[in-house]
Amino acid sequence: MKVAVIGAGTMGSGIAQAFAQNDAVEKVYLCDIKQEFADGGKGKIKKQLDRAVAKGKMEQAKADAILAKVQTGLNTQAVDPDLVVEAVLERMDLKQQTFRELQDEIVKNPDCIFASNTSSLSITEIGAGLSKPIVGMHFFNPAPVMKLVEVIAGANTPAETIDAVKKISEQIGKVPVQVNEAAGFVVNRILVPMINEGINVYYTGTSDIAGIDTAMKLGCNHPMGPLELGDYIGLDVVLAIMDVLFNDTHDNKYAASPLLRKMVRAKHLGVKTGRGFYVYNADHTKTPVDQL
Ligand code: NAD
Repeated sequence: MKVAVIGAGTMGSGIAQAFAQNDAVEKVYLCDIKQEFADGGKGKIKKQLDRAVAKGKMEQAKADAILAKVQTGLNTQAVDPDLVVEAVLERMDLKQQTFRELQDEIVKNPDCIFASNTSSLSITEIGAGLSKPIVGMHFFNPAPVMKLVEVIAGANTPAETIDAVKKISEQIGKVPVQVNEAAGFVVNRILVPMINEGINVYYTGTSDIAGIDTAMKLGCNHPMGPLELGDYIGLDVVLAIMDVLFNDTHDNKYAASPLLRKMVRAKHLGVKTGRGFYVYNADHTKTPVDQL
C-alpha cells in the first residue's frame, strides 16, 4: 500500500510514521506547501526513531528501513497513492481546495481513497462539490502511539469506503470506531470543552496552572491535566474545535474562553511554539507561565 499524507505538521508527521512503521505499507509520501516543511516532518520522525533506538526499543536497521519509506515533497508528488490522508490546517476552505487539486489534477489512481484527519469539521461539507467521496480518518496525537482512529461517514461516504478505512486502520495496529457525522465526533466533543473549562477555571482565578493540572491528574486519574493537554494538542487547534462546536450548535456551553482566544492571537500555541500555559525548556522540562 502507498499512502500520501498531506500536511507535515504535528499530525501529518505522526500519521506518516504510523503508516511507515507497518510492513503492509511500501511507501509514504509526506507532502507540504514547502519542501522544507515536508523535510521538517520527516526530521520529527527521525527524532522519534532515534529515541526508540537509543532506548533499545528498536533496531537501527528497522529505524533506517522505516525512514527510507518516507519520501518528502510538495502535494504534486502524490501521483499514485492508494490512500490520501489530509492533515493540513483545520480550515474548511483549505481542506476543500486541497482535495479538489488532489482529485482533479494530481492523483492518477482511480481507486484511491481520500480521507481527512479533521478534528471537528463536517466530512459532508469537505466533500461537497468534489468529484470523489471523502471519509474521516481521525488519528490522535501522538499518532504512532495512540490506538484509536475515529472513522467518520459523511452523508455521501459509501459504506465500502468506511469498511476499507476500518480495515486499513486495523492493518496498521489501530482500533477503529465508526462515528456518524456530528461536530467534534465523539472524543473532541467531550474532551475539548473540558480543556476549555480548565482554561476558564484558571481565568476566573480558582487555582493556578500547576494546581489545575495536578488536581485533574490526581483527582480524575487523567495522565495529563487540561492545560498541559491543551498545550500538547495546540491551542489553535483547541480554539478551532470550540468554534466549530459553537457554530454548529449555537449553544453557549461551547463558547471559547476569552483567554484561549487571546493566547492564540498572541501565537502562544503550546508545545509547537515553545510557549503556551507552560514554557518548554531545552532540557525537556516545562515551567508554568502566569497568563493573568
Ligand atoms: P500543524 O499546524 O502542526 O500542521 C499543519 C501542516 O499543514 C503545516 O505543516 C502546514 O505547512 C501544512 N499545510 C498547510 N496548508 C497546506 C496545503 N495546502 N498543502 C499541504 N500542506 C499544507 O497542524 P496539526 O496539529 O498537525 O493539525 C492538522 C490537522 O489534524 C487539522 O485538521 C487538525 O484539526 C487535525 N488534528 C490535530 C490533532 C492534534 O492533536 N494536533 C489531533 C487530531 C487531528
